Amino acid sequence: MQFRIWKFAVAIVAATCFLSVTAQLSPSETPAPTESMSIGGATINVEIEPGDLGLSRTRVFAWVRRSACAVTEYYAGFPVRKVDVKIVPIDEGKGVLFGRTILVDQTLVIRVGLSRFATESSLLDDWVMTHEMVHLALPSVPNEHHWIEEGIATYVEPIARAQVGDLSPETVWRELVDGLPKGLPAPGDQGLDNTHTWGRTYWGGALFCLMADIEIHQRTNNRYGLQDALQGIVRAGGNMEHDWPLTRALKAGDDATGVSVLMELYDQMKATPVTPDLAALWHQLGIRPSGDSVVFDQNAPLASVVRSIMAKRSDPGSACVQVGAHPGSTADSMGVLEIEDAF
Ligand SMILES: [Zn+2]
Repeated sequence: MQFRIWKFAVAIVAATCFLSVTAQLSPSETPAPTESMSIGGATINVEIEPGDLGLSRTRVFAWVRRSACAVTEYYAGFPVRKVDVKIVPIDEGKGVLFGRTILVDQTLVIRVGLSRFATESSLLDDWVMTHEMVHLALPSVPNEHHWIEEGIATYVEPIARAQVGDLSPETVWRELVDGLPKGLPAPGDQGLDNTHTWGRTYWGGALFCLMADIEIHQRTNNRYGLQDALQGIVRAGGNMEHDWPLTRALKAGDDATGVSVLMELYDQMKATPVTPDLAALWHQLGIRPSGDSVVFDQNAPLASVVRSIMAKRSDPGSACVQVGAHPGSTADSMGVLEIEDAF
C-alpha cells in the first residue's frame, strides 16, 4: 500500500517539477482518485480509497458508469439526485468482495470492496455495484420488510443489466431457475415478514417480485409490469433518502400500474408461507432449462410476458443521457441507515 502511494507521489513530483528533486510531497497529501459523473439526472461522485488495485482507475470508473447506466435504464432515470460511491481496495480475495449502501447524515454512500487482484472480467461479471444502486430506488422500510429491499435488488439487477446488453437474457433466467428455490418457504415458515433467513430475504423477496411482475403483465395485457410499479414508487418520492411504511410504497407502485397486484400479493405472502409450483411456472413462461443455460419457447402461453419483462424501454443509445427530475430532494432520515449485503 505504502509503495503504491509513494510511486504515485513520485509521479506527481516528476510531472510538475521535473528538476526539483528536493520537492516534498508526503503520501498523505496524495489526492484520492475521484470522478464526478452525471448519469440519468444524478451526480455520482466516485472515489477510489487508498490502497493497491491491479486495475486502472479508468476501468474502475467505467464499471461504476455501466452499473449506473443499467439502473438508469430500468428506472427511466437514476433514482436519486446524488450518491457518493467509494471503492475500497482490499489486499485479499478475488473480484468484488462486498457492497453496502448507507444513508449517513442525509448523504447516500455506496461502499464496495474490490480485491487488489480483481481483473477486468471481474468487473464485467459483477452484479454488486448494480445491486447496491438498485437499493437507492426504494424508501427505507421497517426491518421486518427487509426482504422487499433485498428481493427487489436481487430481481431487478440482472434484468437491468440485460436491458443495456451487459448480461444475456439466458443468464437472467438461468439464475432465477437456480436461485428461486432458495426462496421457497421451509417447514415452520411464517411468511416473508416473519421469516428472516438469508434465503427468504434475498430469494423469497425475488420470488415476490417475479410473481408480481407476471401478474401485472397478465392483468394489463403486457402494458405494464413491475418495472412500471417500481418507477412509480420513485416518481412518488420514494427513494432511500426517506423512511416509508411498506404499504405506502406498494400503494404507490399499484397506482402506477392501475392494478393492485403489489398490495394483494403482499397480503397473501406477508404472514403465510406461499409455495408456487416453479416447474409449472417455467413451463408456462416458456423457460426450458438446458445445460447451464435456458432455451426460450416462444410458443409457451406466457412467452410474451418474458419478452415484455426483458424489453429495453429507452431509445437506442439514450440510456445514459440526462433525463428526468427526481422528486423528494430532502432526506428525512436522520443518523445512519444501512443496508449491508452478505455474500
Ligand atoms: Zn442488498
